[in-house]
Amino acid sequence: MPEGDTVYREAAQLNAALAGSVLTRCDLRVPAFATVDLAGETVHEVVSRGKHLLMRVGDATIHSHLKMEGTWHVYPTGGSWRRPSFKARAILANDRFTVVGFDLGLLEVVPTEAEASVVGYLGPDLLGPDWNPDAALANLLRDPHRAVGLALLDQRIMAGLGNVYRSELCFLRGIPPTQAVGEVREPAKLIELAQRLIAANRDRTERTTTGNLFRDRLWVYGRGGQPCRRCSTRIERGLLGDDELQLRDVWWCPSCQPRFSITD
Ligand SMILES: [Zn+2]
Repeated sequence: MPEGDTVYREAAQLNAALAGSVLTRCDLRVPAFATVDLAGETVHEVVSRGKHLLMRVGDATIHSHLKMEGTWHVYPTGGSWRRPSFKARAILANDRFTVVGFDLGLLEVVPTEAEASVVGYLGPDLLGPDWNPDAALANLLRDPHRAVGLALLDQRIMAGLGNVYRSELCFLRGIPPTQAVGEVREPAKLIELAQRLIAANRDRTERTTTGNLFRDRLWVYGRGGQPCRRCSTRIERGLLGDDELQLRDVWWCPSCQPRFSITD
C-alpha cells in the first residue's frame, strides 16, 4: 500500500524523466479523459501532495492517486515494459523516457489553476515545502473523541500517512490505536514523530521504522501473532474504520501500548 513517502519518491523520478521536456505522446486510458491529448505541451514539474501526484503540463494538471495497487514506471522510450499494456492507465513520453501509470486508482485532468478543487481539502503535507505541524496538531485535536488510529489516516488532518505508519506510530508512542485523540499524551510529539519517520524514508526504497534497513524493518505492522520486538508479547491484529465499509487492519502490542486515561 503506497504511502506518502512512496508517492514522493515516484514524483521525484517522474520529474527527473519529464520536467522541462515536450511530450511526444499522451495517452490517458480512462473514458472521461481519453480525448485529452497533451502531446506538444511542456511538462513543467511533477510533485506529490500527500499521497496524490500532480503532473503540471501546459496549462493542465494530470492528477492521479495510486490507491491500493497503482504504480508508475519509467522506461526508455521504445523499451519494453515490465507490466502488461492492458493495465496501463496513463502513458506519457518524451524523446528519452516513457512513463506509464499502471492500475491507478484515480486519474483526472484539471486546469492547473483549479488544482485546489482536487487537493485543496488535504491537511498539511508531511513531506511538502509548506509542512506546518501546528496546523496539523490543531486539525488533529478538533475531534477529541475520534480514535487516534483513524485520525492518523485522515488526509484532511495531515496528508501522507497510510496503514503502515498508523500502526507503527501508535506503537512508537505507546498508544493503543483505539485511544481517543483527546486522551493521547503529548499529541504534538506524535505529529513530530510522524514527520520525522516519513521524511527519513522518503529517499529509501524499503521503508523502516526500527532503523534496521535489511530485516526487522517494522515493529508491529503485518506481524499479528508474532512476538513484540521489545517485550515478546504476542502482537494483536484488529480492524479499525470510521464505518464498516472502511475497516482496515491495524496491529499493536497490548503490553507496550496499554490503554490509559490522561488523568492517570
Ligand atoms: Zn511489546
